[in-house]
Amino acid sequence: MSSVPKSHVFPPPLDRRYRLEDGRVRTRSLEAHIVDHCNLTCAECCSLSPLLPPWCADPQELERDVRRCASVLSPAVFKLVGGEPLLHPGLLEILQRVRRTAIAPVISLTTNGLLLGEMPDAFWSALDALTISRYPRPRLSAQLIAQIESRAAQFHVRLNWKMQDQFVHMSRDPSSAGIDETQRVFHDCWIRERCHMVRGGVFYTCTRPPHLHTLHRGRINFSGDGVRLHGGPGLREELLTYLQRDEPLQACFHCRGGNAAMQPHRLLRRAQIEAQRAAYE
Ligand code: SF4
Ligand code: SF4
Repeated sequence: MSSVPKSHVFPPPLDRRYRLEDGRVRTRSLEAHIVDHCNLTCAECCSLSPLLPPWCADPQELERDVRRCASVLSPAVFKLVGGEPLLHPGLLEILQRVRRTAIAPVISLTTNGLLLGEMPDAFWSALDALTISRYPRPRLSAQLIAQIESRAAQFHVRLNWKMQDQFVHMSRDPSSAGIDETQRVFHDCWIRERCHMVRGGVFYTCTRPPHLHTLHRGRINFSGDGVRLHGGPGLREELLTYLQRDEPLQACFHCRGGNAAMQPHRLLRRAQIEAQRAAYE
């Protein structure tokens, strides 16, 4: 595999004029990252998982946040993501709680697939769709792939196999980020329409701010990068204004956006992870 970064294939232009549907803002998707840790250590993991301490979402708090979102947002799909979401010990409870909020017609989960062979019937019957990221290393065995396809067919779960042999090189040193360049990155970034996220009572237009907040141990304040889900009147208008803003996020000064160059997938070794973590001590 070439080590030369390849240019990214840009997704089609996005419509940023959000429309209302039954009084709620129609969106592509909403996601919750229910664990920060993972059983892999991918470099350029957009959730920054290898660099973050282990963390699990509280199912009750997540349900409260998703309910507040459901009062003003109408995403086409709700996604459970991580880290590796199959590592959450209360995953089945989360699936049940999210389902009863009626946030979206489709409940999906994004996984690296390594643990899917261990999942019980209750897991498969609680899902509508699964996205399985496939990396060059470690490869899923043919036996596990066949097992996943069989279980998905049995429980009518839609499978989306996503080959991920390249990752977007998103992280950047904020000292190299001027306002004009950051403005451009934010303007061109397709992730801000596709990866809406709820975390800790806040709605974010992308997944970077809460993870950068954890990475920097709160020493840089990214809390202004989202909208607090207060559940009171005016929330829908606050979200609409936020989603259509021109001003970049604080997180954008630390990010190259979704259109950045690609790099081949690789796993970080423990020493590399420790060296990177040490930079944030
Ligand atoms: S499998 Fe996904 S969550 Fe885990 S380290 Fe790789 S990219 Fe990050
Ligand atoms: S931090 Fe900014 S540039 Fe990075 S993904 Fe989010 S919106 Fe895009």
